[in-house]
Amino acid sequence: MFERLSAPKQDPILSISVAFKEDPRPNKIDLGIGVYRNSEGQTPIMAAVREAQLVLANTQQSKSYVGLAGDEVFNKAMVDLLLQGTKLHSRAAGVQTPGASGALRMLADLLKQARPDATVWISSPSYVNHRPVMEAAGLTVKEYPYFIAETKAVDEAAMLAQVEQLGESDVLLLHGCCHNPTGADISLDAWKRIAELANSKGFLPFVDIAYQGFGDGLMEDAAGLRILADSVEEMIIATSCSKNFGLYRERTGAAIVIGKTMEETMKARGRILEMARSTYTMPPDHGAAIVAMILNNPQLKETWLTELQDMNARIKRLREQLASAFQAATGSDRFDYFKRHKGMFSVTSLSDEQIATLRQEHGVYLVGGGRLNVAGLKESDIDAVVKAFIAVGA
Ligand code: PMP
Repeated sequence: MFERLSAPKQDPILSISVAFKEDPRPNKIDLGIGVYRNSEGQTPIMAAVREAQLVLANTQQSKSYVGLAGDEVFNKAMVDLLLQGTKLHSRAAGVQTPGASGALRMLADLLKQARPDATVWISSPSYVNHRPVMEAAGLTVKEYPYFIAETKAVDEAAMLAQVEQLGESDVLLLHGCCHNPTGADISLDAWKRIAELANSKGFLPFVDIAYQGFGDGLMEDAAGLRILADSVEEMIIATSCSKNFGLYRERTGAAIVIGKTMEETMKARGRILEMARSTYTMPPDHGAAIVAMILNNPQLKETWLTELQDMNARIKRLREQLASAFQAATGSDRFDYFKRHKGMFSVTSLSDEQIATLRQEHGVYLVGGGRLNVAGLKESDIDAVVKAFIAVGA
């Protein structure tokens, strides 16, 4: 049966994790896969999550099925966390999905059903899975200009010039905050302009927000999305609890749809449930039950917020330290972009050859394209990383 299959493609990020695990060198440094690590190099279970898990273990009465949309308390909490107080809040409906990955795929399938000729516009570069997920749903994917390699900033003029050309069959996929892989976010003015253009040109904004709380703060990181939600008529959102609740393996996320009317919202939600039925049927419950409990319990919520702020402060500190160490070693400010970027990642724009040499000769692992996971650094690794970068001519 399977003899005609060609060999599967390797996952570009997970395959680096495997290579890292197999590397016997004790001083190897993994700046590849996108997980947050503390000063001991661990990805901890957050205190509020640990507490909620214990309560759940002691009080949950059944493991019976929940329903196609998953946990509705969780769904409401996810919608509130992003949209409370905005114009679109009352018209938004959430569906729990297996991570934001599940949300991206459900929303892509929804777009294909709603508008088979839709083109999804993604940033150049974008999250490595955006293109394959959209294409797997049968959608056409095109890229809008985004990043200037020399300055490591967003080319907003070029981006907006492209967005101005979009029309009613177009979907504009935006990173809510902490752009993956570049670390460079658009300004609030750009969000305002995009909102105006969505209204005048008729394209659909699609926001993927996987790092809420990892940039400037929980509310601050949703500011761009909230500008859209105060002015456009319809939008879709993929959101994740993998990073900000540290629930990576529990596969916890949500797809949020907002139609021009409540009837349209409910039709779109119903279609997602129908598609869920023919794929995984129901999302896994555990992570969503934990998040629902934390967000509805003031004490647990406070514990979660404090720890999230600590994680955020740690990432900012690492960014400062990395930029200063480069400044001290090179006498130049060309690595200051580490300080300007937001969230876990920065794109270093190293060549494939430099990335390979970093790995082979220095045991420093980055992913292709030169994305560096700042949130995976230990303070004690910074000097070694700087030396290795300089040795490969960065
Ligand atoms: N969107 C972006 C931009 C991401 O970076 C990621 C994961 N790293 C996802 C979606 C998927 O997240 P999840 O683990 O919730 O599926």
